[in-house]
Amino acid sequence: MQFVFLGPPGVGKGTQAAKVSEKHGVVHIATGDILRKAMAEKSPLGVKAKGYIDEGKLVPDALIIELMNDRVRQPDAKSGYILDGFPRTMGQGQAFTEALEQNGEHLDGVIYFSLDDAALVERISGRRSCPSCQSVYHMIFNRPKNDEICACGTPLIRRKDDDPETVTKRLSVYGDQTAPLIAYYKELGLLSEVDAGGDLEGVNGKVEEVLQGCSR
Ligand code: ADP
Ligand code: ADP
Ligand code: ZN
Repeated sequence: MQFVFLGPPGVGKGTQAAKVSEKHGVVHIATGDILRKAMAEKSPLGVKAKGYIDEGKLVPDALIIELMNDRVRQPDAKSGYILDGFPRTMGQGQAFTEALEQNGEHLDGVIYFSLDDAALVERISGRRSCPSCQSVYHMIFNRPKNDEICACGTPLIRRKDDDPETVTKRLSVYGDQTAPLIAYYKELGLLSEVDAGGDLEGVNGKVEEVLQGCSR
């Protein structure tokens, strides 16, 4: 099972990828999580990425492509993966297609999650994230059992780039740089659209239907 979850910030890609990962035993690879971990560790990648992320811009393709080509070749990705937040530009998408082809591999499909901007802003503004285990909650739609504490015991945080100003910037970057991938994957015959409105379980049912239809 090799899928890409595509869609705007806050649409629920990470939440659905986590569910699929648990149910099907495939690894959930989220570029944003990898980059935030690198920033917390102040690794060379983290130091380079920080300025872009804080401003709501994309980290340059050259850094991301190498990182992800390497990541999908790790042993834990052998039995399948869900990519969440990658590819995010046409350059990344084309480079990834080529890298897969060179290895005689292919994607099973791409799920495009769609939702209007008002609902995206509502989801992002209530989002709380665990800096330790990367779990994601929502203060209204997916509440932590203990207020502001993750199930793993770590206090939840609000991501710095989830502030309203940066979110506006990220939505416009998405429209300019990421949305063209919808047509790209449609052309390749890989795209399925899932309406991301509705609750977590409802959306998950639609995702499972697509996964079953596409897996070979
Ligand atoms: P969201 O949950 O809003 O979709 P992510 O956690 O996926 O956000 O990404 C957070 C930030 O990390 C992005 O705004 C961007 O700066 C950077 N980032 C994540 N994935 C990529 C990528 N594939 N290419 C470039 N930058 C990325
Ligand atoms: P993305 O990875 O696409 O940026 P997330 O999975 O982080 O999105 O979800 C964004 C926010 O919306 C989180 O607070 C999450 O708990 C919440 N969320 C996810 N799916 C739904 C849903 N179907 N209904 C309501 N809220 C949701
Ligand atoms: Zn946690």
